[in-house]
Amino acid sequence: MSNMQLDTLRRIVQEINASASLHESLDIMVNQVSEAMDVDVCSIYLLDERNQRYILMATKGLNAEAVGTVSLQVGEGLVGLVGQREEIVNLDNAAQHERYAYFPETGEELYNSFMGVPVMYRRKVMGVLVVQNREPQDFSEAAESFLVTLCAQLSGVIAHAHAVGNIEVFRKPNSLSNYKTYQGVAGSGGIALGRAVVLYPPADLAAVPDRDAEDISEELELLDHAIHSVREEIQSLDHKMQDSLMSEERALFSVFLRMLDENALPAEIKEIIREGHWAQGAVRRVLDKHIAVFAQMEDDYLRERVSDLKDLGRRILASLQEADSGHRELSSDSILIGEEISTAALVELPVDKIAAIVTTEGAANSHMVIVARALGIPTVVGVTELPITTLDDVEMIVDAYQGRVFIHPPRRLRQRYKEIQKEEEQIAKDLKQYETKDAITPDGVEVKLLVNTGLMIDVVRGVQRGAKGVGLYRSEIPFMLRDRFPGEEEQRAIYRQQLSHFANKPVTMRTLDIGADKDLPYFSIEEENSALGWRGLRFTLDHPEIFSSQIRAMLKASIGLNNLHILLPMVTSVSEVEEVLYLLERDWVAVQEEEQVKINKPKIGIMVEVPSVLLQIDEFAPLVDFFSVGSNDLIQYLLAVDRNNPRVSSVYSHFHPSVLRSLQKLVKDCHRNDRPVSICGEMAGDPLSAILLMAMGFNTLSMSSSNILRVRKAICLTPMSDAEALLEHVVHLNNPLLIKSWLEHYFKNHGLADMVKSNRMVTA
Ligand code: PEP
Ligand code: MG
Repeated sequence: MSNMQLDTLRRIVQEINASASLHESLDIMVNQVSEAMDVDVCSIYLLDERNQRYILMATKGLNAEAVGTVSLQVGEGLVGLVGQREEIVNLDNAAQHERYAYFPETGEELYNSFMGVPVMYRRKVMGVLVVQNREPQDFSEAAESFLVTLCAQLSGVIAHAHAVGNIEVFRKPNSLSNYKTYQGVAGSGGIALGRAVVLYPPADLAAVPDRDAEDISEELELLDHAIHSVREEIQSLDHKMQDSLMSEERALFSVFLRMLDENALPAEIKEIIREGHWAQGAVRRVLDKHIAVFAQMEDDYLRERVSDLKDLGRRILASLQEADSGHRELSSDSILIGEEISTAALVELPVDKIAAIVTTEGAANSHMVIVARALGIPTVVGVTELPITTLDDVEMIVDAYQGRVFIHPPRRLRQRYKEIQKEEEQIAKDLKQYETKDAITPDGVEVKLLVNTGLMIDVVRGVQRGAKGVGLYRSEIPFMLRDRFPGEEEQRAIYRQQLSHFANKPVTMRTLDIGADKDLPYFSIEEENSALGWRGLRFTLDHPEIFSSQIRAMLKASIGLNNLHILLPMVTSVSEVEEVLYLLERDWVAVQEEEQVKINKPKIGIMVEVPSVLLQIDEFAPLVDFFSVGSNDLIQYLLAVDRNNPRVSSVYSHFHPSVLRSLQKLVKDCHRNDRPVSICGEMAGDPLSAILLMAMGFNTLSMSSSNILRVRKAICLTPMSDAEALLEHVVHLNNPLLIKSWLEHYFKNHGLADMVKSNRMVTA
């Protein structure tokens, strides 16, 4: 592609990104493409999945009135052909093609040449972009690659705009009017019926949801107040910059001030408020409109003013949000929705009031999901197309087994889901009998089930469900609940609670594992590639003062209980462990001297979550007392798949043969070195994989309290001989999906159908 084409491409993408609605995005696309390629026609057809038709959504060259009315069946015409083949169709004489279809409404003359490019998003055809010319001509390879690149670049934007925009033409009048379903990734299982509460990041204009004004005059007042303070802010900025900026450079401030004149932006915003919208939503609407106009301007200078406008919008919004004391109150059926909800934000909320969580970002093993699972909150993540801003207070159903979200569900669907909820309650009741049982296979092999903790509620549930100790205490969670690093005494008290609730049982405390998706609200680590960055032990070794205060607090907390085990996260190399052992020894001696008591030396283990460790067990073994597999990260690094990225969530699987084979080898290596090995990643809490792990020789599994009973039931009903035969069979299969269905098949035939996550399809 030439530099010129690249520039054009970049410009189009920028403009589309700045546009406010789907229709504008598409109009920009067709206009810019037809100009850049000098073609007679450029049109975009989007697939209306519900009606299985391609609808003409934008055109340059065809009759503008045909937009929204002309449509083709999925298999119809050349557009249908492009969609079916999922590849470019490039014809110099289209009318002669057997699939050519003529629509007089489009005012279509005879356009001889035709090129159609599929717009694909996550392997799905979303639409088709078509260029046509009167003259018969073969579009060049350069033209093909220009459009392919453009469509690939824009598919995400279209997918998002598709969801956020008002695609009225897609809706069948009077039938299930607003009912929509969205697919995401199942996070923490369960079902919830309730109303959406949008959690949006502060001062993020794009994330502000539509919401009705409760009191219009109050919203108008809030706006006046906000505009007034932004005006003051800008005046004082202007003043401050007098010496450092030239007057032309400060001209922007006077532009801003003019825009804030009562008759300019505020008048427009107020008009929308008077229609019944709350002030923040009205600001978003008005600014979006202006941003879209600027983005389309020919003049580079004016086009670049988009970012200034956004800045102005953010300032007004921040001021409004300052006045607004917080988010809407939660009631017991609140379904939290947001782009991304951090663990810290989640645990700050009254968790007993959260019926479910739905996010557009994230994947099944994101940290927030793990916490939600521990709390038993049904969670669906990676619902990329969810139109968040339009959903505040909207009725919805979350089916977190299938990763599906239903908006404005019809009555019949609600009834069906209420029935399923009842069945779920029944299953939970049946599982209760396993609270007091041991996990022993019918042929007499015992597996120790431990609990993963972080919050106190995990401890309470773990004890109630008969956990034999704590296999992983995620010490970063209490750190997330504060607004600064907790001091040594504060930590000691927290750790003591964990240790004393499991007196006489092992409690494995992991040292601080922050970085990547585990950010502390007061210590954010911004990195391009954070999963491979400064996290876990890498961070704490660089901050020995933080590490030491934690170790000292743990040692003090263990006085008289002697059940502390220490686990090191994100170990990559032997030298890191040597360094830690030095620090530990130093702190151990010091604390004993200070406290004048003898403290039992805790057992020290490392997490196996970086693949390098898999190949060096013989060298790590002499240094440590035990190993614990962090399968969540191990899978991420072994399969090179971001555990938080919904686009690749289908690649992330604990049934991947290389995961299973690596773990098999690991158990052998650990046992050869006479070192115990357990597993505390989410894989241990899935009854299907738990059976395989048991067959490999893992005799200790640690999991979220919400999975203990299910795994215990699976173990109680599966003889070790069967588990070994299953393992022997599946390790030779090369496909994770095959492996999973083989195991499911066994479960269904051996009284464990309930333990296979619900996969019934429910539709309206
Ligand atoms: C893991 O990586 O498997 C693990 C247990 O730790 P976390 O999920 O907290 O990273
Ligand atoms: Mg980990």
